Parts: sequence; C-alpha cells; structure tokens
Amino acid sequence: MHLSNRASKISEEPFFIALNLPPGVLRLTGGEPDFPSATFVLEAASRAMTDGQTHYTAPAGIIPLRQGIARKLKEENKLSYDPNEIVVTPGSSGAVGLALLAMIDPGEEVLLPDPAWFHYATLVELAGGIPKRVALDVKDGFTIHASSIEKAASQKSKALILNSPSNPMGRVFSRSELEEVAGAAERLSLTVLSDEIYEKIVYPPHSHVSIGSLSGMRDRTIVVNGFSKGYALMGWRVGYAAAPIEISRKLESLLGYTLVCAGSVSQYAALEAIQNPKSREYTRKMVEAWTRRRDIVMRHVYENSTVVSANPPEGTFYGWVDVSGSGLDGKHAASLALEKAKVGVMPGNLFGEGGRNHVRISFATSDDIVEEGMKRFCNVLTVASKVNNDNRKLTHVEQIK
Ligand code: PMP
Repeated sequence: MHLSNRASKISEEPFFIALNLPPGVLRLTGGEPDFPSATFVLEAASRAMTDGQTHYTAPAGIIPLRQGIARKLKEENKLSYDPNEIVVTPGSSGAVGLALLAMIDPGEEVLLPDPAWFHYATLVELAGGIPKRVALDVKDGFTIHASSIEKAASQKSKALILNSPSNPMGRVFSRSELEEVAGAAERLSLTVLSDEIYEKIVYPPHSHVSIGSLSGMRDRTIVVNGFSKGYALMGWRVGYAAAPIEISRKLESLLGYTLVCAGSVSQYAALEAIQNPKSREYTRKMVEAWTRRRDIVMRHVYENSTVVSANPPEGTFYGWVDVSGSGLDGKHAASLALEKAKVGVMPGNLFGEGGRNHVRISFATSDDIVEEGMKRFCNVLTVASKVNNDNRKLTHVEQIK
C-alpha cells in the first residue's frame, strides 16, 4: 500500500521502547500518574452516561467545562480568557497538534528546547514546519536564555514551544527566565505555544508561572493544558487550548474537521475534576508520593556520583540523569540497564541531541520499584564504568609497550 512520506518518516522508537518492555522489567519509563482517577470523578462520569450524555458535543466542548476552565485559568494562572476562547481537545496532545496546524505554514520554523518532549518535533514536521532546537546547557542547569533563542532563530521562525514544568528535564522555568523568553518572543515576533500540562507537579520552593500572564504576552501565547497529569485523567483524553478568539475559532474548526470533539463522557469527568474541591487533596496526595520518590532517585544519584549526576527535579515526575561519568551515553546506558538489570529507562537522545548523555527516569511508580530500579541501574553503570576503566588502562599499557 502507498505510504506518504509524512508517515514513512515517523519514528516508532519512543513508543516501541516504552510499550514493549518484556515482562519482569522494572519500569521507570511511565509518562503518566501511577494513580487511578478519583472515585468522585468516576461517579460523575457514570451519571453522565446514564443521563444520556453520549452524543457528539460542540467541537470546542461543553459550555460548563469551558466556563470551569476559564475560571481555573483566572484563579490559578492569572490568565483572563472568555469561555469562547477555550477549546477542549482530546488530550493536551490534541491541542499541541492543532495549534501547530493553526500557526505554521510549510517551510516555517518552530523553535523548541533541546531537550524537549519528543512529540513536538514530529508534530512540527507533520504540520509542514521545521523544528529548530534551542540548546539548553547542562552546565548552566538547563536555564533558558533570550540569547539562545535569538541564536537559533531566523527570519523563518514563527513560533516557540515552551514546556514548563518540563518533560524530560524536570525544570520549572522561573519568572525571570520567562521574562527573558517573553522579551525574545516579542523582538522576534514569535507566537509562544506554552505546554503547561505538568503545572500541578511542582516541588517547593519552585512555583509555576504561565508565560501568558506576563505583560504583553496574552496576545502572542497559546496556552495548552489538560487533565492527564494533575488530575490523573490520562485515559479519558481531555486537554484544552486557550488563545485569543481569532486563533481559538480556527482551532475549533480544525478540531471539528479532524477529531470532531473530545469524548462527551470524558468532558463530564473533567468538569467534575475541575469543579470538585476534593481534587485539590487528590492532587496533593499524588505530589506527596512523587516528592518521596524524587528523594529516593536523588539519594541513589548522590550515592553514585562517580557514574551519575542530576539536579533535583523542580517539577514533573522525571529525573534527568547524566550518565556520562560511567563512560556510556544515554542510549547505551538504557540498553545495558534493560539487558543486565531488567530496568527500563528512556534514552535521552529521544528528546534531542542535547539529551545524548542522559536518561529519563520516571518515578511515577511505587516507592519499592523506584528504590530497586535505581539500585540496579546505578549498580550496572558502576560495573560498566569499572570495565571501561580497566580496558582503558590495558590500552594505555599496550601503548606504552
Ligand atoms: N505535553 C507533555 C510535555 C507531555 O509529557 C505529555 C504526556 N506525556 C503531554 C503533553 C500529553 O498529555 P495528554 O495528551 O495526555 O494531555
């Protein structure tokens, strides 16, 4: 069967790695909360089903949900949107894909951090655009600078994708970094696509700031968020984009033509999640568990500092671990961990060239699995590093001879 160039170019690797781990492997690969959706949300969804909410909805979603999202954005993010400027999508992934279709013409460039969630570059290419990486430096703690954005940009650059808290780095960009980004976006006339899906998973003293709330940014920002991470509604597939009306109307049409609407029952589940005050406590409990597991990851990192290093994650449930001390790159470290220690981690090169010395470790799994997985991972790297050192010494002796 004929296959388009577009489809042939798509890499299956990330899904293959995460989804095809053999049984018995300790999985530190998960990109989703390891908690079920809250019971009060399940009950609301069940009520919606028996009430007959099983039809298509308007493409942009049910009005009470769009009103609830507008209220949430105002109260939690200091963002002011009319419910008409909010488009509910099948997951925040849906919002990212549609926003790129709305912003980019073929041949135009989209700036995105290196490293960044691997979907972005592929989605940019599917929209006909060219991904241009903005290098973030490990030596600089992955700080984002206006100068790096300006260096990567050209006349063809139209948009910048920002993701804070960020997958895979676990960074939460500070207000002053965001002000730098905003300044660069203004000077370069870029639209900012701000993916804030991890906003509720932030560890003190860090706090989430939406770049759209900075002065002058509302009209050049598309805010993307959703219910998968902070409310544990991942399989329900509900996300949203908030943008000035001329963009949100187009997003609505693009959604109507491609995916029609987010699932109706799922939208009622999301409505309950956003309205019910119990959600706050539910999220707090999840973040409490991830804080504990983040500390387990960091304890192992500190105890094995000759082979691994990492900054404590400021947000998300990912550790971004530099393995170069072991003499291996991220890809080799990940395959060795799988083969010798039965531990699955994501190789950092999937997230961009800048991630080649890293692996992403997800701690969205039980304390015991994080503990045992990190122990085995660090052990396997320690052994590999000894073998590397011995080989190096041998080669050195040969050279002297
Ligand atoms: N953005 C980022 C940075 C993510 O890591 C993910 C999920 N891994 C998503 C968006 C997509 O989430 P969803 O489509 O479930 O809302």
